[in-house]
Amino acid sequence: MQYRVFVSRRLPQEALDIISAVAEIDLWEGDAPPPRDVIAEKIAAADGMLCLLTDRIDGPLMDGASRLKVVSQMAVGYDNIDVPACTQRGVKVGNTPGVLTETTADLAFALILATARRVVQADNELRGGEWKTWSPLQWTGTDVHGATLGIVGLGRIGYEVARRARGFDMKVLYCNRSAHEGAENDFGAVKVSMEELLAQSDFVSLHCPLTTETRHLFGTEQFKQMKPSAILINTARGPIVNQIELAQALQDGVIAAAGIDVFEAEPVPLNDPLLQVPADRIVVLPHIGSASVKTRTRMAVLAAGNLVAGIQGLPLPHPVN
Ligand code: NAP
Repeated sequence: MQYRVFVSRRLPQEALDIISAVAEIDLWEGDAPPPRDVIAEKIAAADGMLCLLTDRIDGPLMDGASRLKVVSQMAVGYDNIDVPACTQRGVKVGNTPGVLTETTADLAFALILATARRVVQADNELRGGEWKTWSPLQWTGTDVHGATLGIVGLGRIGYEVARRARGFDMKVLYCNRSAHEGAENDFGAVKVSMEELLAQSDFVSLHCPLTTETRHLFGTEQFKQMKPSAILINTARGPIVNQIELAQALQDGVIAAAGIDVFEAEPVPLNDPLLQVPADRIVVLPHIGSASVKTRTRMAVLAAGNLVAGIQGLPLPHPVN
């Protein structure tokens, strides 16, 4: 075959079929991500690479990859890829926007409900024999309906979280660099300053990308501006939050709770301070925002489409650069 590609993890067969119709696939069969030197060696002999957010793609890695025309990421976020370095080398970058929007919004809402209503804690304590009787005060949480939701980064996913919030009669505030007229017209979402959002929200849900501007956007200073009863939800990217400072804020009761799907280092080490926070104050998930069978298949198919377009020198259906 004329083309050869490196695929850094086993994908749904539907996606592999799209690629193998056009190119010979060099597939990394490991469960863990391929080591950096393996990626470098593989892409040196490839026209394209399909990667995951666990693969760091940068200039030095691509230096020996003279054939490489495209890096296709199976995710919407692409903070693991040095896009300017790709552009400089004439390497196209693709991502998978849209298809995971609703699934990720569902998970953000699952975390809102789970943290507010102590779902995981109550399940664990029931199994531990702590359900002695119906009690007026035990396992009482906070209401989601009618509460104020602050969305930081109201784009595709943030919009869908706001749409779900409308069904719960929530007031929606948001903080973006530009206005989102759709959310304002459709759900009466109100654009406010970050200070106002922090001061007024019962739930703060993060949906901005990880960039130099948003790295550690949340730390002690922001937690102090939130209500002591407020709950932080992060299904965006771990480094948007200073994780050590979040653990401290939860331990000290500066904010009430957090629902976390993404971490500064993934997989999160079991001795991480965040995992030492009592379980009544935090729900932690292993980066499963987009993890439905249907959505992961659609993401892989989209990434395969970007990959085969890129190796053939065609415009990517979902370009980043
Ligand atoms: P999107 O449509 O591009 O929305 C991102 C929003 O963030 C935009 O509306 C943007 O608006 C806003 N934004 C950017 N920089 C900002 C800043 N400095 N301060 C405040 N707002 C800012 O992206 P999306 O498809 O909704 O995805 C959002 C992120 O979710 C992805 O980048 C990814 O990291 C994450 N994600 C996680 C999972 C998971 O499995 N947990 C799954 C999918 C996606 P302005 O440009 O107007 O500021």
